[in-house]
Amino acid sequence: AKRAGKNRIFFFNDHLSQEVKRHVQVHNEILDGLRKGQFELYLQPIMALSSGRVSKCEALVRWVHPERGLISPVEFIPVAEQTGAIKPLGEWILDEACHLSNQLRESGHSIQVSINRSVAEFYPKDADQRWLQIIDSHNVPHDMIVFEITESLLMDGGDSQLDKINMLRGKGIAFSIDDFGTGYSAINYLRHYPVDYLKIDRSFITDLLEDEQDRTLVEVIIKMGQTLGIRVVAEGVEDQAQMDMLKEFGCDYIQGFYLGKPLPYDEFIAFLSGDS
Ligand code: C2E
Ligand code: CA
Ligand code: CA
Ligand code: CA
Repeated sequence: AKRAGKNRIFFFNDHLSQEVKRHVQVHNEILDGLRKGQFELYLQPIMALSSGRVSKCEALVRWVHPERGLISPVEFIPVAEQTGAIKPLGEWILDEACHLSNQLRESGHSIQVSINRSVAEFYPKDADQRWLQIIDSHNVPHDMIVFEITESLLMDGGDSQLDKINMLRGKGIAFSIDDFGTGYSAINYLRHYPVDYLKIDRSFITDLLEDEQDRTLVEVIIKMGQTLGIRVVAEGVEDQAQMDMLKEFGCDYIQGFYLGKPLPYDEFIAFLSGDS
């Protein structure tokens, strides 16, 4: 038994060191990619159902790798969160989002840009100050910026994270709860830590027409949003029938492939021009 235990420990350490090596490698590649300008922000339209107008968009990062091509954030964001590379990467993302926000307004499109902020990005003590500095260095009006956070930040973040949210909200930056319904679903926190938007997770929308339970949950979330004065965005809307049902339920905004996929800035502008 001792022997097996030893072997297991040996195996575990070996496995661990492989994982560490891979993380160190990806970490260095991300920093290198940042220096070489390999990252790009794609923009996905968000439409107000009442007016049919694209009034917001979500910034989604892409890694345009010289050898490996377009890499999805699902592959590098979680690693970046673990190694700490998310700090410079996230600051670059915010900086670029502010730049694009100005460009959008200069080309006549008054569109809010929604930016993802993961829990790990909130860790540094001065994260809120840093972000405000970046936003102000571009002179972006604060009401043009939305930060997308997850339920876990509100649940486990403690007072220091909530202070950061409150500081930024106090400056006029809006907050949205991403992937709503997939986390702890402790609705109580919504009373104590007001946010501006909640985004119903795509997993509730996919079977909206076929699944009665999903439909009921979506209806309840929208009602709850209305009651609390929180505007509701449905993500992952892929067809007209889903859009029509969400409109009937009183949902405020939709986002999804039905309306448009995430696009590079130039294509997003072309999309907007064809749209109006
Ligand atoms: P998320 O924030 O939930 O972003 C929505 C994801 O759903 C995006 O995937 C988007 O392309 C995809 N999507 C949008 N509409 C539809 C649809 O109708 N159908 C389907 N099947 N998918 C749709 P993406 O761009 O691959 O991003 C994945 C995740 O990576 C994001 O999920 C977010 O958690 C993270 N991420 C992306 N960009 C950033 C970033 O700039 N910062 C941080 N911290 N995380 C990011
Ligand atoms: Ca998001
Ligand atoms: Ca989401
Ligand atoms: Ca999601």
